[in-house]
Amino acid sequence: MTISFEKEVKSRKTFAIISHPDAGKTTLTEKLLYFGGAIREAGTVKGRKNSKHALSDWMEIEKQRGISVTSSVMEFQYKDYHVNILDTPGHEDFSEDTYRTLTAADSATMLIDVAKGVEAQTIKLFKVCRMRGIPIFTFINKLDRQGKEPFELMEELEAVLGIRSYPMNWPIGMGLNFKAVYDRHNKRLELYNHKNPSKVDIIQVNGPLDPVIDETINDDSLVKQFREEIELLDVAGDQFDLDLINSGQLTPAFFGSAISNFGVQTFLNHFLEMAPSPVPRNSNEGIVNPLDSNFSGFVFKIQANMNPAHRDRIAFLRITSGIFKKGMNVNHVRLGKPLRLAQPTQFLAQSRNNVEEAYAGDIIGLFDPGTFRIGDTLVENGSFEFDEMPHFSPEHFCAIAVKDALKHKSFEKGIHQLTEEGAIQLFKTYQKVVEQQIVGVVGVLQFEVLEHRLKAEYKVDVRLERLPFSYARWVSGDKKDLEAFTRTQRNLVKDRDDRLVVLFENDYQMRTAQDKYPKIKFFENSFIK
Ligand code: GDP
Repeated sequence: MTISFEKEVKSRKTFAIISHPDAGKTTLTEKLLYFGGAIREAGTVKGRKNSKHALSDWMEIEKQRGISVTSSVMEFQYKDYHVNILDTPGHEDFSEDTYRTLTAADSATMLIDVAKGVEAQTIKLFKVCRMRGIPIFTFINKLDRQGKEPFELMEELEAVLGIRSYPMNWPIGMGLNFKAVYDRHNKRLELYNHKNPSKVDIIQVNGPLDPVIDETINDDSLVKQFREEIELLDVAGDQFDLDLINSGQLTPAFFGSAISNFGVQTFLNHFLEMAPSPVPRNSNEGIVNPLDSNFSGFVFKIQANMNPAHRDRIAFLRITSGIFKKGMNVNHVRLGKPLRLAQPTQFLAQSRNNVEEAYAGDIIGLFDPGTFRIGDTLVENGSFEFDEMPHFSPEHFCAIAVKDALKHKSFEKGIHQLTEEGAIQLFKTYQKVVEQQIVGVVGVLQFEVLEHRLKAEYKVDVRLERLPFSYARWVSGDKKDLEAFTRTQRNLVKDRDDRLVVLFENDYQMRTAQDKYPKIKFFENSFIK
């Protein structure tokens, strides 16, 4: 291992931003890219949210971009760090991809709207991060607007997500009265300038009691409140503990305003210092260390081109160890075949570039003529495989059938391919004499995408009939209990690997089944442990 190789890997920071739509993810991403010099002017990241979420709009965007990989991974250099931001699509295009992308991240930034607190999509994404135990950093956004009290938000994080927080800074005032944030570590005030928020004056102080704070803030009641709150935090709050942060049990929290570019750079600096470099990953032959010079990686996302004129797909590979070199030969472990990686791409903030060399922690895009499946492992020497990529519970379900029975073969090929890509999950009924196929998706837009792609790429028309389910649960238990369970349950299906899954319409149904069969275990994803 050479020193420069080790340095390259350790400088990698690969993370995802998780949030609910409208919390300000696009805005924050723009500012981060701006600091990295990846874009000249903040404000040029194109989000999909400008679309009206209809399929036609979405496709139009895909067409304009050629392929929407540019927003999937954004890569930039900042100070001595090589930063990779993984995009987690929100809104209507929220899909299983969103969850899987998190498996490629080493840490996450959780963005929260100060007025709205912890919202639905944040909870879902947080759970996936929790499952992996990755560190989570919190940015509480929109302090230029009146929102919930900081303590209330901290309680919410704990009550709703079960995570304790350590505020790295603390706001003085909010909304029209927003004066500053106090940086607890560096003991300094960062002043909010209402006329020109991105111009931040920084004042070093001796601590929260420093009279300079009274002079500067010039509002007795705000300063009094600030001192009481800081004292409470110091006495009754959690201690800063990097071990707890690293294991995802304590989240460092930052307050700021992304749109005003206030608090963003402070966040970025602290974040990059604390966030982990590429972490070791599990394989069936033991732990794979990122500093191992043997190149390896896994496919976590496959992106198809919506434009029928360009049928290429891109497989996103997270490099887990070693150095990637253009043209290198690797072992495609599932197929047991050698593969030459000839034309890989890397994702600089706005464009796809050919990549000559990449390191553990980086994401590269591989041209995919149909060779890859989600979860595939590529390795230079050896034949180990990384842990299987879990499937997550879909939230919408349809029975699917081909309209023209003569097209059955193309239909099967199409849905098989789309299942491998991870766009949909396919289930088959468990008990029915006549087998029925059911597709499950996390975001409803996927149904339209499915219908469109089967027609465009496989020339197949399908009939989709919405089913009333909202949850899928993978089940396990001993044989006798499972027999009793399957005898009485109606909505049983099998996933593509023949694992038993039960579908529920609502929470009540699900809890009733759990109460009735305490010995059966129900899992939200296919990681049955
Ligand atoms: P996304 O859906 O999470 O990507 O959110 P956007 O970045 O598009 O932001 C949603 C809305 O919130 C937009 O109108 C932004 O201008 C606004 N916004 C983002 N950050 C801030 C902020 O710090 N303060 C205020 N007042 N508005 C913000």
